[in-house]
Amino acid sequence: MDEVAQLIRKTFAEMFPDAHCELNHQNPFELLVAVMLSAQTTDKSVNKVTPKLFTKFKTPKDLASAEVIEIQELIKSLGLYKTKAQNLKKMATILVEEFNHQVPSEMNSLLKLPGVGRKTANVILSVVFNIPAFAVDTHVERVSKRLKIALETDNVLNVEKKLQRFFPKEAWNKLHHQMIFFGRYHCLARNPRCETCKLKEVCKYYQELKNL
Ligand code: SF4
Repeated sequence: MDEVAQLIRKTFAEMFPDAHCELNHQNPFELLVAVMLSAQTTDKSVNKVTPKLFTKFKTPKDLASAEVIEIQELIKSLGLYKTKAQNLKKMATILVEEFNHQVPSEMNSLLKLPGVGRKTANVILSVVFNIPAFAVDTHVERVSKRLKIALETDNVLNVEKKLQRFFPKEAWNKLHHQMIFFGRYHCLARNPRCETCKLKEVCKYYQELKNL
């Protein structure tokens, strides 16, 4: 690991030692549902709808048997709720029919589920199964690009690969949460807190701002 990677890791660890998944869940199935619901919406909004949703649909079988309209009703405060409701039902049906009612622990199997992309699959692998993975959400992508870990032109998959090369594998799971916290609470999309940031010297965004 080079010096910049060490500095970033140390800074994240000092700022967010307890970074964790902020989607409320009690089991792998609930986390999968919550991550699917979190597409293009905040964890806070998801946490508002999941208590009722999880009370009504406790298992993949419950959700697979539900009417899409019932699911829609419970998640309609979220963006894309119609598509999300359809995907939830289809996902639950596949869990029941192909995965013995369980959330699978392999990337390829997870990617077979409707509404599940690499980000969601990586969250499940790391949070549920403790398998090293680096989920790239909007915060991780923005921070990676500002800190020159990835290029502005990189797509999400390239960002993921570059993060995996940049940091040691054993650190990925913790760093993923710390990077989300860093992006969510410090290096905000608009008005990042650059003046108090310990990563100014290695930050492309800050250096460009200074040269304006
Ligand atoms: S200097 Fe500013 S833009 Fe760069 S990492 Fe820190 S908060 Fe983010």
